[in-house]
Amino acid sequence: MKKEIKTDYYDTFMCTADKCPFTCCQEWNIAVDDDTYKKWKHLNLSKQNNDYLDQYIKQKDGSRVIALNEQKQCPFLNEQKLCNLVLNFGDEVLSETCASFPRQIHEFADRKEYSLVSCCPEVVDLMNQQDKICFTNNMLDMDEDPLFQIRAMMISIMQDQRFSISKSVMMIYYILLDIYQKKSVVKKEIDEYKDEAVLKELSDAIDNMQFNRFDTFEENNELFLDMAENYRKQEIYTSYLEPVAVLAESLSHDYDEHNITIQLQKFEKQFSSYENLFRNYIVLDIFTNSLIPESDLKSMVAMFQWIAMEYTIMRHTIFLNWLLDQQEELSYKTVRNYIVVISRMMGYDQEDIFEYLEKSFEKLIWEWGYLALLIGMEG
Ligand code: SF4
Repeated sequence: MKKEIKTDYYDTFMCTADKCPFTCCQEWNIAVDDDTYKKWKHLNLSKQNNDYLDQYIKQKDGSRVIALNEQKQCPFLNEQKLCNLVLNFGDEVLSETCASFPRQIHEFADRKEYSLVSCCPEVVDLMNQQDKICFTNNMLDMDEDPLFQIRAMMISIMQDQRFSISKSVMMIYYILLDIYQKKSVVKKEIDEYKDEAVLKELSDAIDNMQFNRFDTFEENNELFLDMAENYRKQEIYTSYLEPVAVLAESLSHDYDEHNITIQLQKFEKQFSSYENLFRNYIVLDIFTNSLIPESDLKSMVAMFQWIAMEYTIMRHTIFLNWLLDQQEELSYKTVRNYIVVISRMMGYDQEDIFEYLEKSFEKLIWEWGYLALLIGMEG
């Protein structure tokens, strides 16, 4: 029997349905799989009319999805924010996407891994309640396969409170590139990076580097605008994206360095009160997305870049929103909303992520310096 690995709170998740502050039944592509499509051809929503469910399906980018209404909501979502399909026919009629969201399951030769994605506000709440993300029976520590060992090492560094989030990301990426450049993955080399002295040396080396906060700010600004462009054109997530994107555009033309420095320092203080949440968020992202059944070392490196990019774009949009709000205090609601929006915006399949990275950066794998520029250093 395959071993099962889950985050220890996985089974406590429950959809809050009509109480959800940010339903997944809107502004999203809701895929309809083949079996569901066949079922829907024979199900009539209102007996009097020929209101068969397959009429609510359209083709988008070569896939079958539910056609959203003018408000960009799922047509089956009723006024009480409940699903008419579930009310009329029961859970069995839901498409695979709706039935499983926000759960994500990866099946490997020897194991099944279960995770929850941060595109759902209830999942963010659960993450926020954990001091530290733990996995079933500490199973991550018992892996023999080198790729799983590398992932366990990434998670261990990310959870090491001695290193700030930015430093942990830079350290992980340095190690990943080092292993990747050696072309073959050997257990002995992975073990070397578990050595305290080696980690300290790496941490000290980063401490001695110079970081330019304006370069990081400008790069984050540009990346966010690039990522938001399509969603803005399609008028998706408008209330979250448009105000911060307009501010980002104006800052991309000109900004007062002195003022931005002061604001960034104030913001960092506020943002640091969510350090634990973001550490958990990155750990979960590494667990869920850096290693999937088809992965090799190269794809792990590329996926880690994407995870770092997602984090920096979240941090940047939260900063812009905090600037607009002119509130000293950064609210949990704002933080949660932007974790959800950016996770939804950037939750592409690996193939699409690699295509984006190759198009935007000319090659799939970055130099270490680029990731360091993107993430910058706190303080
Ligand atoms: S986003 Fe999460 S809590 Fe909200 S409706 Fe979807 S699954 Fe339920």
